[in-house]
Amino acid sequence: MNRVKTAKQVSTVCCYCSVGCGLICSVDTLTGKIFNIEGDADHPINEGSLCAKGAGFFDLTEANKHRLKKVLYRAPMSDKWEEKDWDWALPRMARLIKDTRDAGFVKTNAKGEVVNRCENIGHLGSSNIDNEECWLVTAKARALGIVYIDHQARV
Ligand code: SF4
Repeated sequence: MNRVKTAKQVSTVCCYCSVGCGLICSVDTLTGKIFNIEGDADHPINEGSLCAKGAGFFDLTEANKHRLKKVLYRAPMSDKWEEKDWDWALPRMARLIKDTRDAGFVKTNAKGEVVNRCENIGHLGSSNIDNEECWLVTAKARALGIVYIDHQARV
């Protein structure tokens, strides 16, 4: 059976930025799985075009066999990745962030003014998170006093 001929097409909107480009998802009616995502040529904003981020949407689906599903850890100086569970990873990340922040926290500047900033941690946002998630991670970074914050969407 030709799955392209029997596919159901579903329109949606890219969640990655405020441009709001239209997408068409082709769904296999036998399996219910998405097998293609492309720009919607009838959409008034993007008229079928997508930026690199939107064009890579299909790779976020379960069809992408390379998607990471487990925590991978590489010890310092090691060339091997180890699978870990979240119960191991989350306390370790929290410990490292706390220790690093405590070591580099700046309470006042050279003039004695209170600044309360963390200068030894940077935050680089993900290209695969949406506007609301970006807000959340930025608020979290600022709550820690982090001042070096950047994001893929800036470029
Ligand atoms: S991230 Fe790209 S594809 Fe998505 S809405 Fe913005 S410009 Fe369009």
